[in-house]
Amino acid sequence: MNAEIIAVGSELLLGQIANTNGQYLSAELAGIGINVYRHTVVGDNKERLKTAIKEACERADFVLLTGGLGPTEDDLTKETVSEITGAALTYHTPTLEKIKCYFEQSKKRMSPNNKKQAHYTEGSEVFYNRAGMACGMALKLDGTRIILLPGPPRELKTMYWNDVKPYLLKEVGGESLVLSRVLRFFGIGESSLEEELIDLIQAQTNPTIAPLASDGEVSIRLTAKVQEHKEGIKLLDNMEEKIKTRVGKYMYGREDETLPFHVVRLLKDQHVTIAAAESITGGWFSKALVDISGASSVLTGSATTYSLEAKERVLGIERSLLSTHGAVSKECAEAMAEKARLLYGSDLGISFTGVAGPDALEGHQPGTVWIGLADSKRTASHVLHLAGGRDQIRRLSVYYGCWHLLR
Ligand code: ATP
Ligand code: MG
Repeated sequence: MNAEIIAVGSELLLGQIANTNGQYLSAELAGIGINVYRHTVVGDNKERLKTAIKEACERADFVLLTGGLGPTEDDLTKETVSEITGAALTYHTPTLEKIKCYFEQSKKRMSPNNKKQAHYTEGSEVFYNRAGMACGMALKLDGTRIILLPGPPRELKTMYWNDVKPYLLKEVGGESLVLSRVLRFFGIGESSLEEELIDLIQAQTNPTIAPLASDGEVSIRLTAKVQEHKEGIKLLDNMEEKIKTRVGKYMYGREDETLPFHVVRLLKDQHVTIAAAESITGGWFSKALVDISGASSVLTGSATTYSLEAKERVLGIERSLLSTHGAVSKECAEAMAEKARLLYGSDLGISFTGVAGPDALEGHQPGTVWIGLADSKRTASHVLHLAGGRDQIRRLSVYYGCWHLLR
């Protein structure tokens, strides 16, 4: 089975927003074993949209459209589909009720256009929008299933999970079930990971193994097609075990659990608190932890001490240490971690000091980063030599900091 995705909206063509819906749907479809062969982006223009849909229908089993379901003049997707299929537009009563209710409650005037969001073509399956107004729908045109989803990403994801995924699974496999699992790795590159697993990857049938690299992390998606849930779990467990015996020391989590998520969970479970002194990361480490719920019982505080003066004044690092060793040094990183721990009265201290670039600093190349770690008994540090721009170097510094905390 194969699919094409059509994102509708002139703002996408103008470069005002990125097509994250296409990316999201592609990843989801890959996860259930549907191959995506093509992405198309079309502006809010009926003729061009019509051509794009017709062409995609000639090639694909599934055509997923996102955007253009709203109330304004430029929202044309449903009208266009109605013209292509010849099925008349009609109103979905629960959606219409929701729209009316919204306007009554907010004491706004409802224009006739707002009713458009309740449109669906006769004979199609309607998907109620739990996160917004405009309903989605699915219909068959010759051999192709056309699926319409709203543009706002939150609405799209909610509808995908609740309605579209079950619809696709039903259409794809009769009774067969698709289970997938993501394994997450850090500290190993995509090519090294592939090398370690090459025979498994080459022999893959069920489950399939798909490595994916992003932002310095690597993940593997395992996808199993089975008749029974239990059977699928067993296949995934077996493959995960095989992978772990080879590269288990780099694996830190599953699904969308991030490194900071694991740090918060681990420290919380162990009733351990942490404080940070951040130079190169400029607060990124503490943000990464605070993004995770439960951070309040783990993170006591973080000092962004960027200049030498700040390191001296806020953390109390001796000027002589800074002038002898410089800020990008083992000595400075370790002192920062110790001082952060004392300053905020926490069990652990962590620090980040280095060169984000593009220029060298104190004779060190961009990407040179020291991470300090301190507890009540000992202090340690690790040096990194990272590649990439400022953003990548700083992000990876945070990830490596988390990685060291987990080990
Ligand atoms: P609305 O009811 O909000 O008008 P809609 O289904 O008509 O929803 P659009 O008008 O096409 O959708 O887009 C609404 C908003 O959703 C856009 O302004 C943009 O913020 C976001 N959006 C639309 N398409 C995409 C896409 N492909 N990727 C990411 N975001 C998108
Ligand atoms: Mg719209």
